[in-house]
Formats: sequence, structure tokens, C-alpha cells
Amino acid sequence: MAVKINAETCIGCSACIDTCPVAALTMENEKAVVNEETCIDCGNCIPSCPVEAISE
Ligand code: SF4
Ligand code: SF4
Repeated sequence: MAVKINAETCIGCSACIDTCPVAALTMENEKAVVNEETCIDCGNCIPSCPVEAISE
């Protein structure tokens, strides 16, 4: 399992990147991207997003 990022909602602020304990989040073309193999589904990143682009 991995969180999902809505690329249409993401404003590319990168606030979520540093909240991930396993570095599963990276920026690509000014959008956050989840590495689904790395994500442990901890949910840490979800409240960090100002536009609620991250969901379970
Ligand atoms: S749910 Fe946890 S492990 Fe997955 S991307 Fe968010 S912070 Fe990282
Ligand atoms: S915190 Fe939200 S808007 Fe900012 S880069 Fe991450 S997913 Fe995109």
C-alpha cells in the first residue's frame, strides 16, 4: 500500500517531502511523487499538505 497524490491538486510546495521517514516522496516536474515500493503507509505526509492532495 502507498498513499496517493493527486497531481492536479498538488501545487508543488514540497512541504510533504521532509515529513516522510523513509524518503518515499520526491519532486518530479514540480509535483510530489510517491515511491510505492518504499512507502510504508504511515500517513505522516497527509496532514502536511496544504491542499489535501495526499490521500490513503
Ligand atoms: S505515508 Fe508515510 S511512508 Fe508513505 S509517503 Fe507518506 S510519509 Fe512517506
Ligand atoms: S505538500 Fe501537497 S501540494 Fe505540497 S508538494 Fe506535497 S502533495 Fe504537493
